[in-house]
Amino acid sequence: VARVLAVDIGGTKLAAAVVDRAGVLTGRASTPTLATSSAGTDGEELFGALAALLDDVRATAGADIVACGVGCGGPMSPGGVQVSPLNIAQWRSFPLRERLATHLGLPTFVDNDAKALTLGEGWIGEARGERNYLGMVVSTGVGGGIVVDGRMLEGASTNAGHIGHVIVEPLGRQCGCGARGCLEAEASGSAIRAITGRPAAQASAEVRERTGTLVGRAVGSVVSLLDLRLVVVAGSVALGFGEAFFAAAQRELDAVCRIEFARGARVQPAGSGELAPLVGAAAVAWRGLGQRVVG
Ligand SMILES: [Zn+2]
Repeated sequence: VARVLAVDIGGTKLAAAVVDRAGVLTGRASTPTLATSSAGTDGEELFGALAALLDDVRATAGADIVACGVGCGGPMSPGGVQVSPLNIAQWRSFPLRERLATHLGLPTFVDNDAKALTLGEGWIGEARGERNYLGMVVSTGVGGGIVVDGRMLEGASTNAGHIGHVIVEPLGRQCGCGARGCLEAEASGSAIRAITGRPAAQASAEVRERTGTLVGRAVGSVVSLLDLRLVVVAGSVALGFGEAFFAAAQRELDAVCRIEFARGARVQPAGSGELAPLVGAAAVAWRGLGQRVVG
């Protein structure tokens, strides 16, 4: 039985697990991203912590691991050859794919974390069997991935799916990208903290509803544009806000997405919940090996 090593590289933690072809996870482990290294220090220290974590997971997993899949924050060059995650200051143009492949001695595949999650949802999550859908993460930042006609869209620089930079409030807050009123500048965890002075986990009912409404507005345009049927949303902000968020998002989607073919599109929580990033990383590995994971 072949299995893959799944790796999720985030700003707060590095996580890994072994995942089989049915999506069953074993040996899940994690380590804090910043405990071993701080901004401005050498990226080698962070890679060392990642390598040690993966060695531990492999040591307990057995010998049938055939590949490694990684979901990592962007931006990155195509295929994750070089990564520069916005929230991991010690890695700038870090050659993640080659370093991991060399350390592990395995075929290694890297993709943007939101695209990875989108693949995972199509593989064994809420978008299973769906050929046209949007996957999204609403947490500290906002990211996404788009599957059309059973294929993930890549775009000119493999960055297709950046729904965080769809404008939802003309003349709204300044976004890190330089524009105003992007979804990420209005509805991400860091935006909510900046607007309310409190972490998203302590947001009021009004803020939860507004966040859902803005997400519904952004996805409504995308659903009409690309003829999608389903939007699955993961991330600590969306999942933490729960029903207030999803009800508001669906209301706004219904309100803005009126053209006949797009009516009835649904927005719902990602099926893999907390495990979604690792399931997504495993999907990146299976896809890299040429196996079908979506559509
Ligand atoms: Zn922006």
